[in-house]
Amino acid sequence: MMDLASAQARVMAAIAPLAPTSIAPADALGLVLAADVVAAEQVPPFANTAMAGYAVRAGDTIAAPVELTVVGELPAGYAPTIPVGVGEAIRIMTGAPMPAGADAIVMVERTEPLANERVRIQVAARVGDHVRPAGGDVEPGQLVFTAGTRLRPAHLGVLASLDVHEVRAYRRPRVGVLSTGDELVERGELAPGQIRDSNRPMLLALAREAGCDPVDLGSARDDEALITDRIAHALDTCDALLTSGAVSVGDYDFVKVAIEKLAAARGGEYTWAQVAIKPAKPLAFGLIGGVPVFGLPGNPVSSSVSFEMFARPALRVLAGDPHPQRPHVATIAAQPFERRPDGTLHLDRVRVWVGDDGRYRSERSGLQASNVLSGMANADGLALLADGDGVAEGDAVTVMLLG
Ligand code: AMP
Ligand code: MG
Repeated sequence: MMDLASAQARVMAAIAPLAPTSIAPADALGLVLAADVVAAEQVPPFANTAMAGYAVRAGDTIAAPVELTVVGELPAGYAPTIPVGVGEAIRIMTGAPMPAGADAIVMVERTEPLANERVRIQVAARVGDHVRPAGGDVEPGQLVFTAGTRLRPAHLGVLASLDVHEVRAYRRPRVGVLSTGDELVERGELAPGQIRDSNRPMLLALAREAGCDPVDLGSARDDEALITDRIAHALDTCDALLTSGAVSVGDYDFVKVAIEKLAAARGGEYTWAQVAIKPAKPLAFGLIGGVPVFGLPGNPVSSSVSFEMFARPALRVLAGDPHPQRPHVATIAAQPFERRPDGTLHLDRVRVWVGDDGRYRSERSGLQASNVLSGMANADGLALLADGDGVAEGDAVTVMLLG
C-alpha cells in the first residue's frame, strides 16, 4: 500500500496550471490572477470630504465656537467654483471635492445654522479633519493585487475604481464527469439490481464548487471498449476528467484498464495504487496527453473522499491557485473516535463546531460505511485518525475542513 502523502505527491507532480488568458473583470469572479495588477491612476482621484458638513479653514476655528459666513453649497459630483476665504465656509456633502482654501471639514452635527447665511462652528477643526486625500487608497504605480490572488467581489470593485477592463487570469478548468456501471439509472423505477447514480450529480457539484466548469458526460455501461471510447472523446474537450467506479479489483473494473491503455497510446503516465486510507483505497490516475484523469472509486463516500484527497487540490492547481489545499484545524474530540489498527489512515466524516471556549469540537456525522453518503452530506470535515486504536473523548483530532 502507498501512504497518502506519497499518492498525493504522485498526482500533484503531474499537474501544472492551465495557460492564463485575458478576461473582463465581470467574468472573473472566483478566478486566480496570473499577473500582478498595478494601478495606472489614483484612488480617490481628488481630495474630498468623508462627511457632510462645512468645508473650513482650520485656522478660523481655533477659538470655537465661532461664526463663519456660508459662501456656497457643494454636492458630490460637481467641481468647486468658489474658494473658501478667511472667515468663510462652504456647506458640503460626502464625496464632494475639497474647495480651494479649505483644509478641514467640520461635520454637520458639530454646527448650527444661523440666519443670514451664517453658521456656528462649535468645535475647533484640525487641518485634514475628515478629508480623504487624493490617492489615499491607491497611488499610481502601486502594486494593488499580486498574481495568485483569487478574485472576490471587493477585488472587482477595486478593479472598476482603477478603470481596469481586463486582467490576466486562469480560466475555469473544464472538468468532465463520467459514471460507470451496469447497475446505474438516473431516475424513476428501479428494476431488480439497479441503483440510482448519485456520484455524477455530486461530482459535478464538487467540480463546480472547486471553481471549475463541470461537463456532464453521462454514464457508461461496464464495457471496456465503450468506456475507453467515452474517455478518449472527453479528453479532446476537457481539461480534466473525473470518472467513478470500475477502478478496484473486480472483474468489471474497466476504467483502470482504459486509463492505462489510453496513457500508453497517447503518451502520458498511469498510476494505480492501493492507498493506505479508509475509505477511498483504490486510486487510478492518469495523465493522458496532458489531461489528468481521476478514476475515483464507485462507492459514493469513497468517490467524494478520493475527490477531496486527490482531485480537488489538482483542479485548484489547474485553476492557478497557489494554495490548493483545504485548511486543516485542530479540534477536540466530542466523542471517542474508536478504530482498529489496519495499516490505514481513517478519514472519518465529522461535524465540526465552535465550543463555548472558542475551540473547535468534532464528532462523527453519521455511519462511517463507504456507501453511507448521508454521513458525508452532514459532514463539515474529514477527521484524520492515524493507524491505531483511535482517539479518546477530549483528545486532539486534526480535521480537514470541507468548504
Ligand atoms: P465499483 O467501484 O464500480 O465496483 O462500485 C462500487 C460500489 O459503488 C458498488 O456498490 C456500485 O454499485 C456503487 N456505485 C458505483 N457507481 C455509482 C454511482 N455513480 N452512484 C452510486 N453508486 C455507485
Ligand atoms: Mg462498477
